Amino acid sequence: MEIKLKKINNLKKVIILFIVLLILFFCFFINNKDNIKSSTLNKDYILNEIESKDQDVNIKKDRIIEIKNYLGTTKKDSSYYFINGYISYIEKDYKNAITNFEKTKELIKKKDSSFLKIYTYIFENECYLKENNYKYLVENSKAAFKYISLSKKYKNDKDTMWRTIRTLTKNNETTEKSIDVLNNYMENTKGLNYNTEVGIVSHLAYLHRLNFKYTQSTYNYIKALDIIKNNRKHIKDAEFYECVIISNIGDLSYILNDLKNAIKCYDKAVNIKIKDKKNNAMAKSIVYINQMTVYIDLGDYDKAIEISKSINELIGFLKKDVKDDIEMLLYQNLASAYTYKKDLNKAEMLLNKSKKILQYDEVEYIKNKELMLKIAYAEFYEEQGNHDEAIQIYEEILKNPLKNDVNIEVQIYDEISNIYLEKDDTQNYIKYTKLATIKKDDFENQLKEEYMRYASKLYESDTLREEQDKNIHNIIFLLVSIILLILILISRVNTIITLKKSNFTDGMTNLYNRKYLDYYMNKNKKKIINKNISVILTDIDYFKKYNDNYGHIKGDEVIKEVASSIIENIKNYGIAIRYGGEEIVIILPKANIDEAKIIANKIQSSINEKNIDHKYSNVSDKLTISMGIYNKVYLYNDNIYSIIDSADKALYKAKSNGKNKYEIY
Ligand code: GH3
Ligand code: MG
Ligand code: MG
Repeated sequence: MEIKLKKINNLKKVIILFIVLLILFFCFFINNKDNIKSSTLNKDYILNEIESKDQDVNIKKDRIIEIKNYLGTTKKDSSYYFINGYISYIEKDYKNAITNFEKTKELIKKKDSSFLKIYTYIFENECYLKENNYKYLVENSKAAFKYISLSKKYKNDKDTMWRTIRTLTKNNETTEKSIDVLNNYMENTKGLNYNTEVGIVSHLAYLHRLNFKYTQSTYNYIKALDIIKNNRKHIKDAEFYECVIISNIGDLSYILNDLKNAIKCYDKAVNIKIKDKKNNAMAKSIVYINQMTVYIDLGDYDKAIEISKSINELIGFLKKDVKDDIEMLLYQNLASAYTYKKDLNKAEMLLNKSKKILQYDEVEYIKNKELMLKIAYAEFYEEQGNHDEAIQIYEEILKNPLKNDVNIEVQIYDEISNIYLEKDDTQNYIKYTKLATIKKDDFENQLKEEYMRYASKLYESDTLREEQDKNIHNIIFLLVSIILLILILISRVNTIITLKKSNFTDGMTNLYNRKYLDYYMNKNKKKIINKNISVILTDIDYFKKYNDNYGHIKGDEVIKEVASSIIENIKNYGIAIRYGGEEIVIILPKANIDEAKIIANKIQSSINEKNIDHKYSNVSDKLTISMGIYNKVYLYNDNIYSIIDSADKALYKAKSNGKNKYEIY
């Protein structure tokens, strides 16, 4: 009985004690919560405040003063220096910020938050960048990544990773090293999720691209797509990444001058369904911008303008900084389209709009906007006939070495040489044509070299894996190699297409124009010298009568027919130039007189076969042409125009001897 009572008493005591403890705990908890609420002045709170800030929204001025006063009363530990450093950083006192971050580094303790550890290095790097000091960037990034890989919270945080890497991409040397830093992180960090993997591999692709390593870049993009394809269910926003990556592959094709594949990629990217409207706008607006650029390059200005409408539909869903950049590029592209459509008023209005946004733009979401705007202005002046202004802008751009974009450089040299051609300044024309050719060759050599290096790597890894099963990577490697080889081949063809586009063709007949003749002779001089060159000058017989009786429109058609007969029959032997109204010059750079005669005969029979009525001709009731041929060994000092002159003399002879025939000078 006694024992029982004792037990009950004990139980009572335990219950009372438990209740007391509960009340105490409750009081403490409420009290503590109040404390945190009422005091925003403690280091942990301030650190949280900094951590939760969007990277672009800074702490308000009043709050900074409050924090500064508070810090004066506290212990000088790692948090103290970190907060001080951060404040100096946002107040743009970078030197002081760096001093503080250096102190932070010395005092970092194990118990400090991952945020403090990682961002000490990131913020310090950003300060170094502002001071144009690149010396410590790589080392700091490595340290940041070490802490990132140790932090559960940050190891899969792509933004933090990107922010670390981004500081390395402002300078060629550090860009190269950034690849190792990121690769190292990926290889040595456990517990990365698929989203992170896709992010890192895409970043690697981007970094390779910045380093002009296009094969490796393509490889990484394809690898990223592969990760998405195989793990779609585990990847958040898989479609968003897919869209961005495919569009990036399109960009690479564009750089390699494979406009067709670029368009294919962009079309594919645009058609991917992305549910989240913001993500959709973010990914696709830039694809549309790039699509516009390609169509402008191809001379399809209306299509470019049509695409711009799709961008307008997305703009409302974009964050402000992205929106600014997209709008700027949109206006620039539209300005280019209208420039080439000769609607110069509209173009100027759009350029000014773009310029205005650029003035207030702070965050760089897309690179090179300013440069693009300058180029758009130069194109505009060029089209306006204001050659000197255009050249001045181009020269200014070329003064600063253009990082990361050989294509722009080549484009500028081409533009400048075109302007000089129009100004009849042959010396400068030749100078800039040469520069463009050198750059182009450099670029192609670089591509080839990288391709060869990559191919030999492929061979090595193949031999190593010989015993193993054929795995998917081999297939990807092989695929990339094949794609690249094709790209290089296509890029050659496309260089020719691009040249044609830039004012070198006659719109009506598709023949080349005189400008191209100059360009062609310059470009091929080395190949032609000391070889037999044949020139044929053709002229339609009694063409005035044809025009008078059948009308000019029919006359135009006849010229086109004659042109097509010529193009068909000279194919790989040379080029044809619309020389005057109905006069066409054929240059056969390596043909002897017999070969020239064969071609002349072929052209004549091709026109005969067309059976074009010409009742008013005095030599036949069908349309005929006369030709003059001249052949000689082309010497260094020869001038193509005097050679054409000799062919003209032969033509005159053919005309005097009854027409519908060729004569040789
Ligand atoms: P010939 O047999 O001696 O060559 O006599 P012709 O009448 O052909 O004389 P010529 O070659 O001097 O005449 C060229 C004519 O071609 C003059 C012009 O009306 C016409 N022409 C020039 N360019 C064009 C064009 O683009 N379209 C049309 N329809 N006619 C053109
Ligand atoms: Mg004529
Ligand atoms: Mg004629």
